[in-house]
Amino acid sequence: MQIPMSSEARRWQKIARDYADDYLQPHEVEAELNDGVLPDAITNRNKQRAIELGFTAIDVPKSHGGLELPLEAQVAIWEQLGRVTNALSLCFPEAQSWMFDACSEDQLNRYILPMMRGEHKECYAITESGPGSDVAGLEATAERDGEDYVLNGEKWYVTSGNLANFFWFQARLPEEDDEALFLVDQGTAGIEIIANPKFSHTYASHHPTYRFDNVRIPATQRVGQPGDGMSYTHSWFRHERLMIGARSCGAAARLIEEALAFADGRLVDGAPLSEKQAIQFMLADSVTELYASRLMTYDAARSADRGNDVKAQHARCSMVKLYVSEMANRVADRAVQIFGGRGYMRENVAERFFRELRVDRIWEGTSEIQRLIIGRSLKKRGLDGI
Ligand SMILES: Cc1cc2nc3c(=O)[nH]c(=O)nc-3n(C[C@H](O)[C@H](O)[C@H](O)COP(=O)(O)OP(=O)(O)OC[C@H]3O[C@@H](n4cnc5c(N)ncnc54)[C@H](O)[C@@H]3O)c2cc1C
Repeated sequence: MQIPMSSEARRWQKIARDYADDYLQPHEVEAELNDGVLPDAITNRNKQRAIELGFTAIDVPKSHGGLELPLEAQVAIWEQLGRVTNALSLCFPEAQSWMFDACSEDQLNRYILPMMRGEHKECYAITESGPGSDVAGLEATAERDGEDYVLNGEKWYVTSGNLANFFWFQARLPEEDDEALFLVDQGTAGIEIIANPKFSHTYASHHPTYRFDNVRIPATQRVGQPGDGMSYTHSWFRHERLMIGARSCGAAARLIEEALAFADGRLVDGAPLSEKQAIQFMLADSVTELYASRLMTYDAARSADRGNDVKAQHARCSMVKLYVSEMANRVADRAVQIFGGRGYMRENVAERFFRELRVDRIWEGTSEIQRLIIGRSLKKRGLDGI
């Protein structure tokens, strides 16, 4: 299914597709059966190849040695990486453009540029046991003490906490009646893992719960300026929500192809299953919804590339995340149904995606929260303003 796309985006689409097909997909079942963990040699090879291809630098400004690709091309890359289960594509870190607005030169040199080189990995600590969806109600605190800040709080579901060397830590500043983001080195005294639950998907990246107990860090680790509050975390949300849309498109495309291939080969009553109208309807709904999803995801990326108003863009990214993640879940459900009992086996791609895609309706803001954002934006700005 071809949709309008710049030649640059198409070029990156091919690069990412080759990478996903040759480096990642062959290891999906092995990863699934080994808690998401692959032998070091394969993990390192995949990461190294991603760095060579420039994936760690696609959103980095050229002034800092990056590729500064338009978001359209970035979506083309992440869409192809979304074809693979087990988060195998999370094998490389990604420095994002907002980090270059947010961070001091020293912070860039110590944290962000090493990410671009593949030497550092981050994790993001926002969610808490109380405030989950309600990110405005965070309870973790950062209190100034001389040249330091002292951090306290409990952070839940910190993805890649087991692999990362630093945290983005979002906290309330009681003295300023504001919020801020901090860079915190993994291993700083006072940081403790208090739980490491298992989740439905099979990832090498865990999602531990951390307690920060009087964690003392230099004041220079604060990111941005007074008054910046949650603005960088919102930048992160916009980026991630758009890329969840991209990956969900890739996942749905793969599922449709795999389900169709299976239905073509499986004989029922002496004829291919794909000749049954009930099966064709499931595939037809899936491909129609994928078409709409791809158009909206690429359009949202291009509107950001054209410099769309940031509030309107925020709503668009929410629409993409909401619609496309839910679309991919519907497609995965249908794919399991088409595969029948085989679709319930852990070695089956539909079974893995059926579990793995579920979280895309929860993390980076649940579907309900995306609806709240879209609804509020519509009320404030009207239909032409979003
Ligand atoms: C695997 C995984 C990885 C994650 N990784 C990270 C991470 O790296 N960093 C991080 O900070 N967080 C992470 N999260 C947390 C994730 O962002 C939250 O789970 C999510 O934002 C929802 O918060 P909650 O779980 O507390 O649910 P709650 O906020 O308790 O919501 C429960 C239900 O209530 C609904 N609800 C809540 N408020 C409203 C409302 N106002 N109106 C209508 N319905 C509402 C929700 O939509 C949901 O259905 C991760 C979560 C998972 C599962």
